[in-house]
Amino acid sequence: MNRDGAVALVREVGGDELCERLFHLDAVRTSQGESQVGSCTEPAPAIRAPDALAAIDFDAVLAGGGLSLLLSPLLAARGLRVAVVERAKAGAVHREWNGSTAELDALARTRLLTPGEVEALIVARYRHGVCVWHEGGSYPVTGALDCAFDAGRLLGLVRSKAEAAGVTILDGYTVRGHAEGETAVRVAIASNGAGVASSGGGAASHVGDVASSGDGARGELTTRVLVDSRGSSSPYASADLVCPTVGGVVVGLEEGDGRDRIDPTVGEILATTEGIEEGRQHMWEAFPGATGHTTVYLFYYARREDVGPGALLALYARFFERLPSYKRGAFKLVRPTFGYIPGWSRLTPAPAAPGRRVVLVGDAAARHSPLTFCGFGSMVRSLEHTADKIERAALGQPAAPQRDQALHVGTGVLARIMATPPLDPAKKDELNGLLDAAFATLHAMGDRTYGALLRDEMTSSEFVRFLAKIGTRRPRVYRDVMTSFGPVALGRWGVSLARAAAGSL
Ligand SMILES: Cc1cc2nc3c(=O)[nH]c(=O)nc-3n(C[C@H](O)[C@H](O)[C@H](O)COP(=O)(O)OP(=O)(O)OC[C@H]3O[C@@H](n4cnc5c(N)ncnc54)[C@H](O)[C@@H]3O)c2cc1C
Repeated sequence: MNRDGAVALVREVGGDELCERLFHLDAVRTSQGESQVGSCTEPAPAIRAPDALAAIDFDAVLAGGGLSLLLSPLLAARGLRVAVVERAKAGAVHREWNGSTAELDALARTRLLTPGEVEALIVARYRHGVCVWHEGGSYPVTGALDCAFDAGRLLGLVRSKAEAAGVTILDGYTVRGHAEGETAVRVAIASNGAGVASSGGGAASHVGDVASSGDGARGELTTRVLVDSRGSSSPYASADLVCPTVGGVVVGLEEGDGRDRIDPTVGEILATTEGIEEGRQHMWEAFPGATGHTTVYLFYYARREDVGPGALLALYARFFERLPSYKRGAFKLVRPTFGYIPGWSRLTPAPAAPGRRVVLVGDAAARHSPLTFCGFGSMVRSLEHTADKIERAALGQPAAPQRDQALHVGTGVLARIMATPPLDPAKKDELNGLLDAAFATLHAMGDRTYGALLRDEMTSSEFVRFLAKIGTRRPRVYRDVMTSFGPVALGRWGVSLARAAAGSL
């Protein structure tokens, strides 16, 4: 199948708006920089930084209303005046999410949702999850990514809570740039033609002007803190790795036993069905949801600079073509979901905010695991901490450090290996061999350790033990790593890992 065929299939099910999101993601990712963020072609407007006397419209403006929308009612509950500016519709995600039970519980712990509301979002619970490698083993694990839940309903619910708490939501508005002053940030926004402001109250009057002035209207908001929640489209999303991911909710797959069928009680966390092709190790995942529905994704790890224009479309073409070699059945895609998930290997400088009053969150900050890319889990685990950080910035207090997990220093190098597969056709099964050795090791270390890696809870010393055991099972692994990184980078990584293991990170 070619790209046009793939677009036609996505459009048929998802409509024009979803296709626009797909094109936008592909275009922005390859032309990042604030000047490009608005329309991908227009230069950013010249913005004057606000002086100390400037009127302040909001305490916090969120640029982007995807998953980070979760922060908005929490900030409003702290007494902050909050606005969310979203180029499409805030809370209308083109995603499905899986998580571990403990992560979903965090939503109730923050009081964002009631335990009953959290329970009602869960569409499936699994007996166990499994990772399956081409010409290798099948390794079950319990208690990790064991819930599938309704992402659209979650964000719909959060949006109504945000509105009830007085958050102003600007749908159809793009953030085009900003300028930071001593006490506030001025944010340039532009309506995409059908911009709509829904205000829970307290919206500044000129927001109303922008909203009502029709096609292509432009305006400015002044805020104490700009929260960059533009995900992979943020001009500051400089993480060195990226995981292009496509697929969505599929019906018609055969249920039953065996690798090529769906077991509705098992979540397939990671699976490969082939070796390295076209310089990439493609991977699948399949999470059964409501009866007869399965969320299936195809993705690969890559270095940011290796992902060219139209990568999501090319991957969609492969998805439609190769899904029959992964699972049997006359499948039909009923809800396309896709995106680029940035990942930071911890081997390069961290994505950083451009000023004191700009806070990067979610995928823009990329503090989630570079190996599992579970941004949802990472976001919900750190909601309170992130809300604290934003509140401190709004109050002009010294910035709280960006929290990170020591484990990611270790997993980052594994992600870099996955992103740079050997190109020699004779080595096309290298990564499958490595993955098989790694997961056989994890499985042998026990369910608790295996699950801890997937849930992002493994300690650094446990990770070092894990590495040592892989070395016993596959002695070549150290030579491969040395060849891939060179002694200097490897030495730096070893020191960071040792410091993390000693608990000094
Ligand atoms: C297909 C897919 C499946 C996933 N599945 C899982 C999973 O099962 N479990 C898990 O833990 N994680 C999963 N993730 C990761 C998770 O979805 C992300 O980590 C998370 O959505 C990041 O949240 P965010 O708010 O940073 O960005 P996003 O949710 O991507 O939201 C960014 C928002 O910003 C808007 N925007 C962009 N530019 C502008 C602009 N200039 N002005 C205004 N608005 C703008 C976009 O329209 C978008 O709505 C998945 C990701 C993808 C792509």
